[in-house]
Amino acid sequence: MNSDFLIIGGGVAGLSTAQRLLQQGASVTILERGAIGQEASWAGGGILSPLCPWNYPNEVTRLTTRGAGLFSAWTEELHTVTGINPEYEQSGMLVLPPFDAQTAVHWCAAHNAYSVHQVHAADYSPHIQGDALYLPEVAQVRNPRLLRALRQHVESLGGRIIEQCTVSDIVVENGQVQSLTTSRGKLNAQGYIVTAGAWSKEVLGQHALRLDIKPMRGQMLLFKFDVSPLRHIVLQDDLYLIPRRDGYLLVGSTLEDVGFDHRTTSEVRDMLWQRAQKILPSLRDMPLVQHWAGLRPASPHNIPTIGRHPQLDNLYLNSGHFRYGVTMAPASAEILLNEITGAQQCLDVTPYQAGWGS
Ligand SMILES: Cc1cc2nc3c(=O)[nH]c(=O)nc-3n(C[C@H](O)[C@H](O)[C@H](O)COP(=O)(O)OP(=O)(O)OC[C@H]3O[C@@H](n4cnc5c(N)ncnc54)[C@H](O)[C@@H]3O)c2cc1C
Repeated sequence: MNSDFLIIGGGVAGLSTAQRLLQQGASVTILERGAIGQEASWAGGGILSPLCPWNYPNEVTRLTTRGAGLFSAWTEELHTVTGINPEYEQSGMLVLPPFDAQTAVHWCAAHNAYSVHQVHAADYSPHIQGDALYLPEVAQVRNPRLLRALRQHVESLGGRIIEQCTVSDIVVENGQVQSLTTSRGKLNAQGYIVTAGAWSKEVLGQHALRLDIKPMRGQMLLFKFDVSPLRHIVLQDDLYLIPRRDGYLLVGSTLEDVGFDHRTTSEVRDMLWQRAQKILPSLRDMPLVQHWAGLRPASPHNIPTIGRHPQLDNLYLNSGHFRYGVTMAPASAEILLNEITGAQQCLDVTPYQAGWGS
């Protein structure tokens, strides 16, 4: 492949797309408005699964399952070539009540990627009482490390990264994108790929057609223990606790429809902390290390749009991954690459082209 691409947005979607294209021999430049990997992709928890997979449509779980299945080899390769360990770990997930055990058991029996066990939580974590569901296959990754490794690999493959470069217009002539207007001047290439997360619709402007991607804020808390009090991810309703190897513990999150507003709030901080204490009482005495917010690229039913623009044949989108963009990243990049090269797809991609609405 000797075509060249401009990728708009340097989060996990842009970096993983760039990596796959570079590995096929394309030349690639990523244009990033701020610094690489500082938005939703940095802010996320790194759980490599939908929170309760049985609550999601097949279009979501097919892509998360494919993505999660690629993660072990992907992160191992990144670790080997960059020396940065993204800390992929199959740590398993405990789901605390309320849950519908029957639905979970039936769903997991029908979907090979997961098994589910009805357990006593105390057998898995001495701090937690009562019944639980245990999903041993659920894995996690450390987002900032994954992003650093991806950036380094993209650059070592010859990819160019231009930070502090805002794309303000997509210039079209004769059914093709001719150039991008950016804060660094006019730039052009043979192909253009929008991976601008929550900002993708704004970047596409009049070319967004009926695309429905909008920001959805999520806030997270970070604590540090000397020794992690949990061995597994713990989920209750939509609250999760994610233990890292070195004693850090993340608590998240919220779904707040507040537009492009990154601010954190004391109400959410207190709410997350109090709910987390009910699961893990020792959190009451722990100092809060950090509190942040990120803007997810929200899309209807959590189904991203991946593929060629219906009217502009050198424009592509890989965005709208909402709550599971880290999990979906390697599979989404694979799908987009297959579309660009005309290779056979690994799964039915029709649902990921419906977002354009035409
Ligand atoms: C609190 C929280 C928890 C989450 N937890 C998980 C989880 O456990 N598991 C999981 O799989 N997913 C999780 N997610 C979701 C996941 O993080 C996102 O779906 C994913 O990171 C989206 O990646 P992206 O590359 O599309 O977007 P982003 O990471 O937001 O990247 C988009 C980039 O585009 C750039 N950009 C925007 N406009 C322009 C422009 N005009 N010109 C140039 N550049 C531009 C931005 O600066 C940004 O760097 C979570 C998200 C949040 C916020």
